[in-house]
Amino acid sequence: QARSPYYYADGRYVSELVLPRSRFAHKGTYGHALLVCGSQGMMGAAVLATGAALRSGCGLVTAHVPAEERFVLHTSCPSALVSGDPMSVFSRLPDDMTKYAAVGIGSGVGRHDLSVRAFEALLSCGMPMVIDADALNMLAARPELAGSMPPGCVLTPHLGELRRLVGTWNDDQDRIEKVRTFAARYGCCMVVKGAHTMVCSPDGQLYFNATGNPGMAKGGSGDVLTGYIAGLLARGYEPLSAALLGVYVHGAAGDKAAAYYGQEGMNAADLIDFLGEALAEIQ
Ligand code: AMP
Ligand code: MG
Repeated sequence: QARSPYYYADGRYVSELVLPRSRFAHKGTYGHALLVCGSQGMMGAAVLATGAALRSGCGLVTAHVPAEERFVLHTSCPSALVSGDPMSVFSRLPDDMTKYAAVGIGSGVGRHDLSVRAFEALLSCGMPMVIDADALNMLAARPELAGSMPPGCVLTPHLGELRRLVGTWNDDQDRIEKVRTFAARYGCCMVVKGAHTMVCSPDGQLYFNATGNPGMAKGGSGDVLTGYIAGLLARGYEPLSAALLGVYVHGAAGDKAAAYYGQEGMNAADLIDFLGEALAEIQ
């Protein structure tokens, strides 16, 4: 009997994925996440992604941002390290990429020509990576780059970004098939964001997320998800587990923020404050 490819990712399902933390851990045990984020005038996205990664359990977080903007990070995210890019946009990789376990790229990063070239260099480093926002737009503009994505990539498009990546669809079923085809072709996980975010594995299994609410339909919510999943990848989660657990916990943090501030009053920065509690609840 064929198994249905559809799963409902609720608390019981994702709690099976949670990794234990060793009593004897040190900050090198659970990985170093690199966030390539921010550009002149778009530093809020960088702060949100970095703040979320700092709630994921990984040992170290470095934000790579334009050097002239670095103080924004130092003051908003004192627990993170900062790598300064000499330009006002992402233009070159931090030195010594070997120390990072995983990367998140996209939040507020822009799509300058220099950034496209640096993104190409980043893809060739071969580490697991969350690709979001402007990095998805760079992929859509240069489709041949998708062919050089390393194994273990997690792409997190909203519907507008998805359309730029896979083209238009006729109906929900057609959209699902286009997502599965893309995930299979490039060996990546696809996180299609919205109400009941859908996660698609490279082999075409589909997971619908149980958590989240329309109070999350605000600027910056996606940047929190990017940073959080990147942190989970660095922490040692497999790409599919990082995507499923990240999407669930991000939505559960949104539900907690809504309980506290209301769906109207909550904002993206509030999500960060509830990530830790949301994860602890399913452990
Ligand atoms: P972005 O559009 O990149 O800022 O991402 C928005 C984030 O908020 C995604 O994680 C969505 O799943 C979430 N979100 C947006 N609207 C809703 C909604 N109506 N219900 C649940 N989650 C939502
Ligand atoms: Mg976004």
